[in-house]
Amino acid sequence: MTDCLFCKIANKEMDTDLVYEDEKVVVFEDINPQAPVHLLIVPKKHQENIMELEEDEFEIISHIHEVAVKMAKEYEISEEGFRLVNNNREKAGQSIFHIHYHLLGGRKLQWPPG
Ligand code: AMP
Ligand code: ZN
Repeated sequence: MTDCLFCKIANKEMDTDLVYEDEKVVVFEDINPQAPVHLLIVPKKHQENIMELEEDEFEIISHIHEVAVKMAKEYEISEEGFRLVNNNREKAGQSIFHIHYHLLGGRKLQWPPG
């Protein structure tokens, strides 16, 4: 998937700073932050969206949540609250077609979302 931006970031083909990395995911700051803390948690494996996950692949979602909690603590938003968002397909606002979760915090977040 050489034409996928998030594959390039995960493969270190971009100069994006990673704030966390393990064998399954990378985490980096969103280039267009929507809150004081806006991180993207991205699996290293290319899949367009969570609809592509096979039955035995959902462990990655649990792992993403585990990393999100870790990052929320590290960025000191775990006490006041934060949001974990996954946009699936165009109508939901997905613009990069490689699974990713937004971790947002550091301000009062509105509900319902736009
Ligand atoms: P989504 O709209 O849910 O697909 O989210 C894609 C996100 O990727 C948006 O919030 C963009 O601001 C962000 N983004 C796009 N290009 C980059 C980049 N080069 N580095 C970091 N974040 C990016
Ligand atoms: Zn990709």
